Amino acid sequence: MSDAAMSDAIMSATSPQTDRIDRLRARLGASAILGRADLEWRDAGWDARNFDAFALARPNSTAAVARLLAWCAEEGVVVVPQGGRTGLVGGAVSSPDALICDLGAMADIEEIDTETGIAVVQAGVTLAALQQAANAVGLDPGIDLAARGSATIGGMVSTNAGGIMAFRAGVMRHRVLGLEVVLPDGRVFSDMTRVIKTSAGYDLKHLFIGAEGTLGIVTRVVVKLESLVSARATALLGIGDARTGLAIVRHLQARLPGRLRAAEIMWRSFVATTAATLGFDIGQPPFDAPCVLGIEVSGDDFDAASAALEDGLAEIYDDLGITGCIVATSLQQAERLWSVRERTEILYRLHPRAPSFDVSVPGGAIDAYLSRTLAELRLVDPNSEPYVFGHLADGNVHIVLNIPGPLDDAMRRDVERAIYRDLAAMGGSLSAEHGIGLSKRAALERYADPVKQQLSAAIKSLLDPIGICNPGKILVKKVIS
Ligand SMILES: Cc1cc2nc3c(=O)[nH]c(=O)nc-3n(C[C@H](O)[C@H](O)[C@H](O)COP(=O)(O)OP(=O)(O)OC[C@H]3O[C@@H](n4cnc5c(N)ncnc54)[C@H](O)[C@@H]3O)c2cc1C
Repeated sequence: MSDAAMSDAIMSATSPQTDRIDRLRARLGASAILGRADLEWRDAGWDARNFDAFALARPNSTAAVARLLAWCAEEGVVVVPQGGRTGLVGGAVSSPDALICDLGAMADIEEIDTETGIAVVQAGVTLAALQQAANAVGLDPGIDLAARGSATIGGMVSTNAGGIMAFRAGVMRHRVLGLEVVLPDGRVFSDMTRVIKTSAGYDLKHLFIGAEGTLGIVTRVVVKLESLVSARATALLGIGDARTGLAIVRHLQARLPGRLRAAEIMWRSFVATTAATLGFDIGQPPFDAPCVLGIEVSGDDFDAASAALEDGLAEIYDDLGITGCIVATSLQQAERLWSVRERTEILYRLHPRAPSFDVSVPGGAIDAYLSRTLAELRLVDPNSEPYVFGHLADGNVHIVLNIPGPLDDAMRRDVERAIYRDLAAMGGSLSAEHGIGLSKRAALERYADPVKQQLSAAIKSLLDPIGICNPGKILVKKVIS
């Protein structure tokens, strides 16, 4: 008897779930279902609770996902969709009565249409795989993030992911032209549109983008592609504040139209931690400045891109008070410089499960927002020295506290009040790109528009009346059938 079969046999003596696994195996095929024993030695991803479920199903087609959800509806089994399990807000966390629907076996890039500039992919395709396939024919998905090796297109659709290129090519919502989704009752919603323009009634695909798997399971996606740039130049600059960073962004956008690719800002405690861990001398420019700005511009070749970047910066260097600058002299050096921004796991190694926040602030208000928020966080905890960094050009600010998580309820309320309370009035957002999942539900309930919450609950009840699709995520209140 295999270990998995042994474990399931043991489970049968103690748990009604084994009968369910047998019935599910009969419906989907034995190899598509992993029991608890198989999960023990697999990587649960960003949150260990992702694998608390009684079993994991790996359907390999839309029809198989439809059979799975129809079975879950019949049996009243709750289902948690999972892609790369890189989500940061607990959206993929499962409970012992839940079945995971893992999209990893739906990883085909079905088509790249170079004439139209679109890709048709299954939901389990990773961002890196799509980037590689599109790049091979001179195209690019127009979206990028550090978790690219594991994050899937289905997961990115479901969190409305953003990343470093959002200020120029939009967030996932702007990259999706068409979508196929299996609804909680097993019906298939299919809108595999390949065009930008469609005003044929309600554009329902947008309901599923950012729904974190609470309204159905995304199975296929039509992604709009961009032209691939030939070469990129990278620089890290020492600057005083976000306002200066935005002035640099505006200058480069005007000077090099369409060629600014990234503008990532990191405040002092973030740089001092990641750069020092990676072996940079943080006493030297640009790392000694209050903020470090990572910039990337494109060009016909590496030398042309570097020259354009250097010339563009030289014109404003003194006027804007740039205090230091490193321009990468090779692709390897560029990757090393970007690692200062991308290696955020360094923070979480220092402070396990550090509470993290992902807000959007209108660009011109970032400095004032941070100065007020960080002062209030110090009133909550005098030792507070959060790590702050973000996608400057779209106003996305990440704040990671320098303490382990989770916070107790009273402290969480005080911290959230400091971070969230004036965002709506400023025109910002309490979740820029990571979603709500489990960890931001209380904040959503407290700070989001009440009518939005009523409509969201009504939509959830309509599409998922018995509440089997990723229950407890986004919405705090249980759906009443
Ligand atoms: C190092 C690091 C850097 C990151 N940087 C960024 C960044 O710059 N920008 C950004 O936006 N995010 C970022 N993230 C967060 C994360 O990568 C994104 O949220 C990503 O979109 C999650 O994709 P996934 O496939 O891992 O989804 P999962 O983590 O598996 O799932 C996320 C949510 O989507 C649901 N879901 C997954 N697949 C499906 C599906 N097929 N159908 C329906 N629901 C589904 C899950 O139930 C869950 O609610 C980062 C994460 C890490 C670890």
